[in-house]
Amino acid sequence: MNDKNSQKIVDVIKNFARKHSLFVLAYGTGCGAIEIPATMTSRYDAERFGIRGAATPRQADVLLITGYLSTKTLKRVIRTYEQMQDPKYVIGFGSCTINGGMYWDSYNTIKLLDMYLPVDIYINGCMPRPEAVIEGFIGLQKLIAAGKAEGAKKYKENLDWYRANQKKVIKNWVMPDYNW
Ligand code: SF4
Repeated sequence: MNDKNSQKIVDVIKNFARKHSLFVLAYGTGCGAIEIPATMTSRYDAERFGIRGAATPRQADVLLITGYLSTKTLKRVIRTYEQMQDPKYVIGFGSCTINGGMYWDSYNTIKLLDMYLPVDIYINGCMPRPEAVIEGFIGLQKLIAAGKAEGAKKYKENLDWYRANQKKVIKNWVMPDYNW
């Protein structure tokens, strides 16, 4: 077996393990966060898919951003994301992360999360029910298994573009440099 093939097999095994072990940092920015505890209860039992909570960014694989983001909160979310270790993924939860949702014309919320952080998958709805949350996670798992959950890579490659967008809305930018 050549090196290329053995690397492929290693990647398949790694991605298989990763997709079944998703430690989630749920950043409850909006009202939709109320559906997350329900998703973890015995009725829906998200843990059977390998989805469970993480206490800190350093332990987390997934940053779950549950709803609208004010520009003030955005700064904390960026800092949180940048403290997470690779491999890491972002889920945008609820319509507010996609187009601003019912806050689309608010003066102090962002409208499209993907302009500021690399979203791997969105969960549509206002607010998405636990079934939709699990469906979203299964979608992420499929991307991970296929080696296509590349948000973190996209973030590194396009950091200047993300930084410019972030600094446009966050006026008092005092943040440590992103290093990985
Ligand atoms: S999508 Fe709906 S439920 Fe979620 S944060 Fe926005 S308004 Fe709240």
